[in-house]
Amino acid sequence: AAKILPFKEHQISREQLSFCALKVTDGLQSAGFSAFVVGGAVRDLLMGTRPKDFDVATNATPEQVQALFRRSRIIGRRFRIVHVMCGSETIEVSTFRAAPSEEDGRKSDENGRILRDNVFGCQEDDAVRRDFTINALYYNPATQEIWDTQNGVRDLKHKTLRIIGDPEQRYREDPVRMLRAVRFAAKLDFHIDERTRAPVAELANLLENVPSSRLFDEMLKLLLSGHALRAVHQLRAEGLHHGLLPLLDVVLEQPMGERFITLALKNTDERVKIGKTVSPGFLFATLLWHEVLAAWQAYQAKEAKPVPALQLAMDDVMRAQEQRLAIPRRFDANMKEIWGMQPRFEQRSGGRPFRLLSHPRFRAGYDFLLLRCESGEATLELGKWWEKFQSATEHERSDMLIADT
Ligand code: ATP
Ligand code: MG
Repeated sequence: AAKILPFKEHQISREQLSFCALKVTDGLQSAGFSAFVVGGAVRDLLMGTRPKDFDVATNATPEQVQALFRRSRIIGRRFRIVHVMCGSETIEVSTFRAAPSEEDGRKSDENGRILRDNVFGCQEDDAVRRDFTINALYYNPATQEIWDTQNGVRDLKHKTLRIIGDPEQRYREDPVRMLRAVRFAAKLDFHIDERTRAPVAELANLLENVPSSRLFDEMLKLLLSGHALRAVHQLRAEGLHHGLLPLLDVVLEQPMGERFITLALKNTDERVKIGKTVSPGFLFATLLWHEVLAAWQAYQAKEAKPVPALQLAMDDVMRAQEQRLAIPRRFDANMKEIWGMQPRFEQRSGGRPFRLLSHPRFRAGYDFLLLRCESGEATLELGKWWEKFQSATEHERSDMLIADT
């Protein structure tokens, strides 16, 4: 049964939407279509937090949406949507999808994973195929009403994350929903409903069939959610970390690795919470550092010199990652730069510290060093020395140099 909440019951006014979200919903409605703000934005507004972006759902087809907005394009194959741009903002507009059934146009693999989801339906159908009840709330800016068929508002009040429909079937349709469950629970500090949680452990291996680019996108969202530490612990508790960062489980079992990653994630969460940027390259460099370290030591034990040994170690770790969580190549250079700087921090004689200081990515390398010091892998003295060296005058710097031993 459709539950419609009037403005006085939720207090969300259309002024709280972004310019672009209003432009899109108003534009669609003037053209005779229905249009709602849906998903994360409604959820966030109800919780009193500022949405980071707005998604719109409509009964207009992607072609009809595109025809209405000049700066727009249709994207996606598995799931076709329209991106409408205004200024620097992008609104994702999706056409109501039909409820899952074996119709033509909807193709799934032998595990039940939906490969194409482009069969259009009505609003009721659309609500049922969304992932969680709290993500299936529709806000109509024209009437300022919220349309809630899945008891999303009730679950939101109880801080409960509940999947819509039969949990096992929904995870089979799209295994990424298991990761999304962990991400939302960590981000919102919600508890995962027991029926929603129960099948995860057994179905975790279905993530192997998901294209790695989608896994990467979802992992990045999780790590940049501002609650990465909690999320990673939850991933581990649910048995979802195997195969994601293939070596993450190994790393977390080494006391030093665990300490380092915990510090790195805490640091990331703090940055996100105060609105600072986090470079994905830096983040992945931290997650994989103890793998690099182990490989580096192994090569050095086989008589390789430190610098070439580090190169070999970095290449090995990158290659291992490629197979599962395909970290896009655009981050490779950044990660290697950060790792490659680390042995250079040990060299404190002659012109070398000066050259390192003028490295364009010095700041990232230094932040990374501080994490190593704090975790006990490098000495605190080394971190302090570099802190002092940066703020010292030229003259003081010369006095600080330490001859090679
Ligand atoms: P965020 O704050 O991270 O953007 P969100 O809820 O907006 O959270 P999106 O990934 O932007 O998440 O997706 C928008 C909406 O689309 C979701 O709220 C949900 O209703 C629906 N959705 C997204 N991914 C899935 C999925 N894999 N299965 C079913 N519904 C989905
Ligand atoms: Mg969103």
